[in-house]
Amino acid sequence: MKRASDREYAVTREPPPRSMAEPPAERPGLGLVAAEAAPRRKKYRLGSIAFLALLTAVTLIGCPFYLLSFGLTAAQLAFFVVYTLASSFAITLGYHRLFSHASFKAAWPIRLVVLFFGGAAFEQSALRWSALHRQHHRHTDTDLDPYNINRGFFYAHVGWVLLRLPHFDYSNVRDLTRDRIVLHQHQHYRAWSYLSGVAIPLFVGAWVGGWTYAILFPVAARIFLVLNSAFFINSAAHSFGSRPFQLNSSARDHWLGVLITNGEGYHNFHHAFPRDYRNGIRWYDWDPTKWIIWSLSRVGLTSDLKRTNADSVRLAKAQVANAERAPSLN
Ligand SMILES: [Zn+2]
Ligand SMILES: [Zn+2]
Repeated sequence: MKRASDREYAVTREPPPRSMAEPPAERPGLGLVAAEAAPRRKKYRLGSIAFLALLTAVTLIGCPFYLLSFGLTAAQLAFFVVYTLASSFAITLGYHRLFSHASFKAAWPIRLVVLFFGGAAFEQSALRWSALHRQHHRHTDTDLDPYNINRGFFYAHVGWVLLRLPHFDYSNVRDLTRDRIVLHQHQHYRAWSYLSGVAIPLFVGAWVGGWTYAILFPVAARIFLVLNSAFFINSAAHSFGSRPFQLNSSARDHWLGVLITNGEGYHNFHHAFPRDYRNGIRWYDWDPTKWIIWSLSRVGLTSDLKRTNADSVRLAKAQVANAERAPSLN
């Protein structure tokens, strides 16, 4: 039997965020105005370039060398895997489905945990991540899409992180600024991310397997893997795969993306029905993020899980099938 909290939605589009042309949040001192379009700012984000270059080099050179020389003990492997999964689910369950799309509600302990491990993923604050992601959904495949795939695979994957964005502010995430934990993470993002993403994995990692292991695996390789799995959705999931639910965007479903991103690779479905807490709609679709959200709802830690009703899904699939059967007019 369906729980009252599993609300069905016939809508096919999420309510549009407020216009980006609106003035940003007025509350002073919140640091919510991102005037990245200011002409005097440099075009390149040199800090991000240096961080990603160092991270990539340390991971791709250091980790194989360490593995060939010493291997990993069971404890070293376990700590690395657990911390990597926590960081990854914080992004898919927290930053993406909870904060960006409000596809369910979560009790404060869950919000605190996903904000803590989300900071550890070094993908910026949940507020900034959500502002960019809502902009991506609202303006997919256009110049206003922050990771526009039409600017090339590399740009959509990581290139956009290396450049200052010409069109960006926080006016589409005002709802999230009412959450004090979200706001605290945004205003003190460096403290959150260095504590959860460097200090804790470094010291616990050193205790588990020594300083070299700690730097290479729970810090560097973890951040590298989680970052690239998120980037993969913006690049590969807009390039390769099928489009069973929607043809008017580049978003695609692909099994590989599904496997490496906790179920986020059903990206065509997600763009067609972005407020659904599921990305893989069939019960057996590999979507561990949806299973965790659902499981947490059984113990009262999540609620108001939004589901697209089956008729809307069937209609979308039928429209795509008809469009593909229709003879070309060219
Ligand atoms: Zn997308
Ligand atoms: Zn999304």
